[in-house]
Amino acid sequence: MNTFDIIIIGSGPAGVSAAWPFVKSNKKVLMLDVGFGTKNKKKIRIKKDSSPKISAKEFSYVFRDFNEFYKIKTNNFSANGSLAKGGLSNAWSALTSTFSDEEFSSYPFSREKLLTHYISIGKRIGISGVKAGNLSPWIGDEYVTQRSLPIHPLTKLLLNKYESSKLKFSDFEFKLGKHNQAILSEQLNDRMPFDPKKISGFKDLGDSVYNAADELKNLMKNKNFNYLSDYFVNDVYEDENKTGVKALNIKNERKKKFHSKFLILAAGTLGSTKLAIQATNNYNKYFKIQNTPMFPFVLLFPTQNNRSKKYSVFSFWHLSYYLQLHELKANQRIFGHLMPTDGISSQELIKRIKLPRPISSIIGNFVWPKLLLGTCVFPGIFSNNRMILKSNDELEIIGDVSGDLDIFIKKTKSILTKIFRKFGAYLFVQNLKITPGEDFHLACTLPMKKNPKLMETDQNGRLYGKRKIYVVDGSVLSYLPAKSHTFTIMANSERISKVILKRL
Ligand SMILES: Cc1cc2nc3c(=O)[nH]c(=O)nc-3n(C[C@H](O)[C@H](O)[C@H](O)COP(=O)(O)OP(=O)(O)OC[C@H]3O[C@@H](n4cnc5c(N)ncnc54)[C@H](O)[C@@H]3O)c2cc1C
Repeated sequence: MNTFDIIIIGSGPAGVSAAWPFVKSNKKVLMLDVGFGTKNKKKIRIKKDSSPKISAKEFSYVFRDFNEFYKIKTNNFSANGSLAKGGLSNAWSALTSTFSDEEFSSYPFSREKLLTHYISIGKRIGISGVKAGNLSPWIGDEYVTQRSLPIHPLTKLLLNKYESSKLKFSDFEFKLGKHNQAILSEQLNDRMPFDPKKISGFKDLGDSVYNAADELKNLMKNKNFNYLSDYFVNDVYEDENKTGVKALNIKNERKKKFHSKFLILAAGTLGSTKLAIQATNNYNKYFKIQNTPMFPFVLLFPTQNNRSKKYSVFSFWHLSYYLQLHELKANQRIFGHLMPTDGISSQELIKRIKLPRPISSIIGNFVWPKLLLGTCVFPGIFSNNRMILKSNDELEIIGDVSGDLDIFIKKTKSILTKIFRKFGAYLFVQNLKITPGEDFHLACTLPMKKNPKLMETDQNGRLYGKRKIYVVDGSVLSYLPAKSHTFTIMANSERISKVILKRL
């Protein structure tokens, strides 16, 4: 029997970051993945109000079949997972931030412990951004390796107004600035800098926007790294000497077993959590799953009457902000980003204007370039979702938000409206009703704890009750702030794999 040192389930940012330390130390690694690629496009049914990225045909291979394979049933929840090579990083916006000291206060280790991993991941994947920028004290800048990408004219206008106004507020703090991104502004090894000509729809056909799938090419140059796609893992277990995985070959429908000394679950929060519930036999019990509740808005700049579309493609050049309400703690900041409409179809607006055509089209096409699309994101503690794995293998997720979120949404909307008005923009919200999961940030189902209990992990991501099964994706986050969390998942995954390496 072929026993590997380590099996990693999943090739997303978490799986790939876990793989490198083992590969470099010459350990025998097997990565198992379903691994849909761009050739596996499939028409998928989408909810009308979903993010345009979810319904974009260039990303259909990213989101296809996830709920069917995992037998997920939802109630007021959008379960957007991926079975693609590289996982959700095929479609992500590449915003990168570190967690602050306050955001680490619920973790069994400090920010200091993860800093070296943030820096090493930053060097490996390349991060463009600003050092000492407006948001740096909160999102960090130690890991920035390249200069910032250019700024879009409309976001530049807003940023200039914000910076020249030097506004201070007595009962809240507001900061607006450029965000760091895992997008190259300069060449890195054989990857070329961002080039708008390589953008098709929302997708970068080059490799300047970090996508974990692109790293597989480099991992596979190493003889000790084995990548097997077309395998859907549906069972994991351990005995005295080894760990095991049962997987279904999705092409020939045959089941196969694989063995290793240690096992890493990096199947994304929903996937890894389902496998962990099965492995620990916790059927028919409710567990919590966090997301970052979010509402979208638009900013209209009436003084930009003559503005027309400047770029024909999606620019990726966002601005971000945070809002600190005094009644909320420092680890409970509200976060959002603002993106230009260039490169996004004006149909997104036209279909929402409740007037007959062609009036709706005329208005929509005229107004669209004068808008920025915004999000307002709350930390995970404002979510209140439950999940349960039933005896028939169905995973049910029931979405909800915390009782006080409504108050904070109304307050935040009113504050943002006043702030952006001062910078020449009108804020509009179509619907304040939140659908949990639409934000794509799912986490904290198996939180790392100093003294873990059932459905928790120890400070190194080891599943409670198991000796050799580790989890490295968003499931193990001990706290979920509103800001982008994938960079922390990657840094933590590298940290955990170095701990396992010592055990090997
Ligand atoms: C539109 C969009 C925008 C986003 N923007 C940002 C952003 O700007 N910043 C940010 O921080 N985050 C962002 N995210 C979130 C980010 O993409 C995810 O947090 C990140 O990809 C999670 O990485 P992961 O490796 O844990 O899981 P995933 O990326 O979900 O990868 C899971 C992997 O596991 C494999 N897999 C799953 N189940 C099985 C199984 N049973 N058997 C075998 N293989 C399996 C899949 O094929 C895949 O390779 C965004 C997401 C989306 C969709």
